[in-house]
Amino acid sequence: MSIELRCPACEKLLRVPTDAAGKRAKCPACQATVQIPYPAEEREPPLDAPADIPSAASSGAATPAASAPPYPAGPQGDDRSPAEVAARNLLEKEISSQATTSLVVGIISFFCFGIILAPFAIYRGHKALRLIAEHGVGQRYSGTANAGKVIGIVSLCLNVGVVLLWMLLVCGGVLAEM
Ligand SMILES: [Zn+2]
Repeated sequence: MSIELRCPACEKLLRVPTDAAGKRAKCPACQATVQIPYPAEEREPPLDAPADIPSAASSGAATPAASAPPYPAGPQGDDRSPAEVAARNLLEKEISSQATTSLVVGIISFFCFGIILAPFAIYRGHKALRLIAEHGVGQRYSGTANAGKVIGIVSLCLNVGVVLLWMLLVCGGVLAEM
């Protein structure tokens, strides 16, 4: 299989092998340098095509486009990169989860397992508030986090009070029986 082309200088029809596509050849009739095109059916340059580019570049001055690396895009270039937006969304989701858990657990702690659940609610609420203060995101969850924390503290006080009262009654009962 071969490529047919016309010499741009003398209009002579030339026939070259397909593997010469992308390379330069000398016209046998007029000695003009002819750029051999790729065959119409295969537009993609073959893998060995870039091999002749360095030889062309070495003859003249080195092309700045080939030697200079592409300018790296700095992360500090814009303060709202997609990665940062994703990170903030993730953090906001975390804060939302912490604040909601704090409130729900705080309410549940009034009814059962208060000694365990109330400190958990306080911890979760506190963590959510700290994340909001540190990163400046999820301010709309600060109310929920605060409520959860306060409810947790109230619940803990009540639970500790109930336990103390219960112990006092038991001890009182034991003492009364003695
Ligand atoms: Zn020619």
